[in-house]
Amino acid sequence: MLCMVWVYETTIRTLMPHFLQPFRRHNRAMSLQLRALWKLHQIDAAIVDIRHKASSMDPGRKIQAEIDRLTAVYEELGAKAKALNAELTDLETAQKGIEAKLKKIDADLYGGKVVNPREVEDLQHQIETLKKQRAKNDERILELWELAPPANKAADEAKTHIEAKRQELVEHQRKMLELKKTLEAEFKELNAKRPAAVQGVSAGLLARYDAIRQKHGGIGMTTVDRKGNCTMCGTLLPKKTVEAALEDKVVTCDECHRIVYATEGMI
Ligand SMILES: [Zn+2]
Repeated sequence: MLCMVWVYETTIRTLMPHFLQPFRRHNRAMSLQLRALWKLHQIDAAIVDIRHKASSMDPGRKIQAEIDRLTAVYEELGAKAKALNAELTDLETAQKGIEAKLKKIDADLYGGKVVNPREVEDLQHQIETLKKQRAKNDERILELWELAPPANKAADEAKTHIEAKRQELVEHQRKMLELKKTLEAEFKELNAKRPAAVQGVSAGLLARYDAIRQKHGGIGMTTVDRKGNCTMCGTLLPKKTVEAALEDKVVTCDECHRIVYATEGMI
C-alpha cells in the first residue's frame, strides 16, 4: 500500500507538478503568520508607493523653467521691437521737422524777406542738406516699415506663449494639490489599518520583516512568478526555496533578501 502511494506520488510529482500541494507539509500556524505578514506587507508597500509618489511630485518646476526661458526670449524680442518702433517714431518726427524747416526757408526765400545773395546761397545750401537728410530718413523709414511689423508680431507671439504657459502652471498646480490631498487621505487610511495588521504577526517574524524593510527600501516581502523568479529583484529562485515557500516556511530571496511569499494560486 505504501509502495503504491509512493508510486502514485512520484508519478504525480513528475507528470503534474501543479498537483503537488496535497503532499506538501504545511505548517498551519506559520501559514497564518505568513498570510498576516503578507497583508501587512501590502499596506507597507502601498505606504512606500505613496511616499515615492509624494517625493517625486513636481509642483511646477519644469513649467516655471519654461516660463523663465520664454520670458528671456520675450524680453529680447520685445526690446528689439521697441527699438525699431522708437526709431520709426523718431524718424517720422524728424521728417515733420524737416518739412517745417523747408516750408519756412521756402517762405523766406520767395516771400522777399531774404534778398542778400550770400544769405540766399546759404539758405539754398540748407535746403539741399535738409532734402538729403529727408531722403536718407525716407529710406530708413521704408526699411523700418518692413522690419517693425514682424518684430512686433514675434514679441506678441512670445507674450501669448508665456500667458498660455502661465495658465498651464495654474492648472498643473491645481492637479498637484488634488493629488496631494488624495495621497494624504490614502496615507492616513493605510496608517490606520496598520496596527490591526501588525497584530496577526508574531514578534519574531515582525522583527525579521522590519529589519529587512529597513535595509531594502521599506519593502520586506516578495513573491515568485510562474517562472520561479523573485518578483522584486528578478533573480531565479532555487527550487528548494520555492518549495519551502510553498510549504509556508520563512525563506528569503538570496539576492534581495526579502521574505518570499508563495501560494499555489500565485505561481
Ligand atoms: Zn529578490
